[in-house]
Amino acid sequence: MATVSAYRPAWLTDARLASLRRWVAVSGPGEGTTTAIAPFDALPTVPVPACTPDDVERAVARARVAQERWAELSYGARAEVVLRFHDLLVERQDEVLDLIQWEMGKARFHAWQEILLLGTVARHYARHGRTYLEDRSVRPAVPVVTSARELRIPKGVIGIVSPWNYPLYLGVGDLIPALLAGNAAVSKADEQTPLTLLWARALMAEAGLPENVWEVVSGDGPAIGAAVVDSVDFLCFTGSTATGRLVAERAARRLIGTSLELGGKNPLVVRADADLDLAARGTVAAAFATSGQMCIHIERVIVHRDVYDAFTGALLAATSAQRLGQGFGFGYDIGPLANRAQLDRVGAHVRDAVAKGATVLAGGRARPDIGPYAYQPTVLAGVTDDMDVCLGETFGPVIALHRADDDAAAVAAANRGRHGLSASIFSRNIAEAQAMARRIRAGAVNINDGAGLAIGTVEAPMGGRGDSGLGRRHGPEGIRKYTDAQTVAVSRLGPVGPPPGRPAESFVALGNRQLKLLRRLGIR
Ligand code: NAD
Repeated sequence: MATVSAYRPAWLTDARLASLRRWVAVSGPGEGTTTAIAPFDALPTVPVPACTPDDVERAVARARVAQERWAELSYGARAEVVLRFHDLLVERQDEVLDLIQWEMGKARFHAWQEILLLGTVARHYARHGRTYLEDRSVRPAVPVVTSARELRIPKGVIGIVSPWNYPLYLGVGDLIPALLAGNAAVSKADEQTPLTLLWARALMAEAGLPENVWEVVSGDGPAIGAAVVDSVDFLCFTGSTATGRLVAERAARRLIGTSLELGGKNPLVVRADADLDLAARGTVAAAFATSGQMCIHIERVIVHRDVYDAFTGALLAATSAQRLGQGFGFGYDIGPLANRAQLDRVGAHVRDAVAKGATVLAGGRARPDIGPYAYQPTVLAGVTDDMDVCLGETFGPVIALHRADDDAAAVAAANRGRHGLSASIFSRNIAEAQAMARRIRAGAVNINDGAGLAIGTVEAPMGGRGDSGLGRRHGPEGIRKYTDAQTVAVSRLGPVGPPPGRPAESFVALGNRQLKLLRRLGIR
């Protein structure tokens, strides 16, 4: 039996591999190596050096030194590096598409969506981040004789911990605004997808990023992730709600800030007036993207009872047209799941639902004939509260259909559970759909699109409510979170307060007169 995955890309020669591995921040004896399993054949990829917690501390210390010089550069100089990275990424995308596919198995089109999203984020912050961080004059405490400005100061070293499902976009998309704001960063590569992140690290060096401004550590999630939390100045975490809680508790002990992009159980509402073919197409695209291993993907479909049967027919037709396959190239729509744990979890959710009375309308089975972790796109009906699939995140290509009597019932169904990441509404009446969106507890709502429109709108913030997280990526918040606000107030007359030798009472009287006057004049 082969001991190495047969899908290793031909261009990934030993020399190229060495040029990627060198970016792992192992500076001592290390912790040996870790080797991921390739989903196409369930065989090992290649060993990558594993860090110790001491390596992480040293990496943060190096990044701290490098940050000072990096922060002294102009925003424009930092943006040039990011724009060069953008151009190299677009030019060399075939290599990283191969790596994403080899390491985590998604279909090439879904891998390419990472290029599209990352490129958009890079351009957006390179061009507009400066405006988001500009110094701001504010109304001073005492008019005329004082002035004040609000500044944005980089926090220092940002930790980035991200999962395997979008190893390029999540690994680098949250890094770019951190760097542009003048921070250094230490990223923990996910155990399953280290090569993708190392490839991006090498490309960033080629784009001109100075040494040590971005350090990459790798190894065991709980040990190395925790070591990152223990030494950085802010943590941007993307992953499961359970790990997010651990990370938040640990960060709270050090009083460092976090942004937490966590799990979802995202609903899609089909209103009675929806174009059902569009709704079916949007559902399939959103539910099965990256084989359902996407935080914003759709797992619950809530359909108005008047169109339930017609929509179900359209959905099943669209689902059966999906080509499940694996390997490089654009020749199929859905790839396999990323690993054995994912396959077990998805299979368990479906088996539990069926055992408790759900009906499988499409799919519902693994396809070992296609690949070791291939699983059919699956549609369930009759899902009830006692089933794991009802409100627990499946994170696979499985959707449950629910019937709603009216809009109010649809909103109530959409708001069930503790997550609140993303939602979708299909309707011909945009105004009514917008009104409905306001009542849905989700960080983003897509109208007449399944999932990608809001996250692709990088000028607007994206993030979760409830158990789906805290903080936002994209938009102004996506870069300001990596800075501390600092207020600089200037007095032209020295310390504000009663002049020496004058009784406090006269100052108090003057202050009271000012309060009343400003109130009457409507000033502040
Ligand atoms: P996970 O929480 O198990 O792991 C995420 C990352 O955290 C990994 O790199 C892991 O090594 C690391 N880690 C593990 N234990 C840690 C610890 N104690 N301290 C610090 N880091 C630790 O998540 P996963 O199962 O790999 O990823 C899938 C989950 O991520 C799903 O729930 C999905 O919805 C969520 N996700 C959310 C978003 C979003 O933007 N909201 C995006 C993608 C994925």
